[in-house]
Amino acid sequence: MISVSTALSIISKISYLPNTKTILLKEANGLVLSEDIVSPINMPPFRQSAMDGYALLLHDKNSYQIIGEVKAGDSDDLTLEPGQGVRIFTGARVPDNADTVVIQEKVSRSEDSITIDGQINKSQNIRLKGEQIKKGDTALPKGTKLTPAGIGFLAGLGVSKVEVYTPPRVGVITTGNELIPPGTRLKEGKIYESNSLQLAAVLTQCNIKKITQYVVQDEYKSTKETIKQSIDNNDLVLISGGISVGDYDFVKEALAELHTEELFYKIKQKPGKPLFFGINDKTMVFALPGNPASSLTCFYIYVLPIIEKMKGMKSMGLTRTAKSITADFIKKGDRAQFLKAKVSGETVEILEGQSSAMLYTYAIANALVYIPENIDRIEKGDIVATILLPQ
Ligand code: AMP
Ligand code: MG
Repeated sequence: MISVSTALSIISKISYLPNTKTILLKEANGLVLSEDIVSPINMPPFRQSAMDGYALLLHDKNSYQIIGEVKAGDSDDLTLEPGQGVRIFTGARVPDNADTVVIQEKVSRSEDSITIDGQINKSQNIRLKGEQIKKGDTALPKGTKLTPAGIGFLAGLGVSKVEVYTPPRVGVITTGNELIPPGTRLKEGKIYESNSLQLAAVLTQCNIKKITQYVVQDEYKSTKETIKQSIDNNDLVLISGGISVGDYDFVKEALAELHTEELFYKIKQKPGKPLFFGINDKTMVFALPGNPASSLTCFYIYVLPIIEKMKGMKSMGLTRTAKSITADFIKKGDRAQFLKAKVSGETVEILEGQSSAMLYTYAIANALVYIPENIDRIEKGDIVATILLPQ
């Protein structure tokens, strides 16, 4: 059995070089750039008015003759004499020899001339050509995870395709004779299967699109065959259940038979003690405990950082912060604990119902409080490590 920190350090040392592919920008949200994107244009491409108003060639009086109009999208360049100006609108091309744009609220207009109230300064309200980015400069570097703003930024530069790291194909194997699918009639001795849906949901949240589900009974031969098939066809395999020490837990033996290199098995933690992590050929394999809350906690703490690496990101895991605890807490036993909790403002409350078989508490939690193995008592107001759950 290894400690949480040893397990995390093994995870952090894993290196993985994902494949790349060129895709349409509109399909790239959440994916990671595998190349620097160089700006093909100056942005803005021309001197642009930042406001609705008048573009002027300054002179020493405060009245100007208005000789025309430039709307957003117009391409013509009007030449101004000192004391002349044009009506202009936000986003429109400022005439090359205009000095400034004065906002319409500062102007009184009559027929084809305007009078300005107050002081005007040169170069006001003009976005300079290339002020956001210059042609040939790096717009976004390799390794950037594309967000909606990133998509918008690149689209604004005219980019329509990007090269990204291919996210992993993930196989999810559910083991357990007792499991039946939700939506069917519950029979004596059976329970509804929930881990595959929970894992699919959290994988989808990680932007994984290729998820293949496998279902297997607690039987050695089919367990081994299913694991083999899933390893052959996926980059990451998550196995739910069957990894403990019961007589009908066959996953560990099957993984060994298939020559899976074991990187760790069993962590001194609660929940999730019987977690297995290994590599088979190039496929990463996690065998997660079947208890639903254990399975999800192991996912968040250990699988998520591996998925980030497999997506080409710097592996960060969930956001860790420090909060003040709302009540005393006594930890029993010598294992580290991840406790379902609720953060509000600068405080965190450890919730009732921490059993690894219970999901209600998890369903209303927004954080996990981490209590290291060597701490057994925490007092109200103490600062505790708090891991924020994705909402
Ligand atoms: P195991 O890790 O296979 O020993 O399972 C531990 C506990 O989790 C048992 O009570 C199982 O019935 C339950 N369990 C295992 N797999 C699932 C699943 N996919 N959905 C819901 N409960 C499960
Ligand atoms: Mg089982």
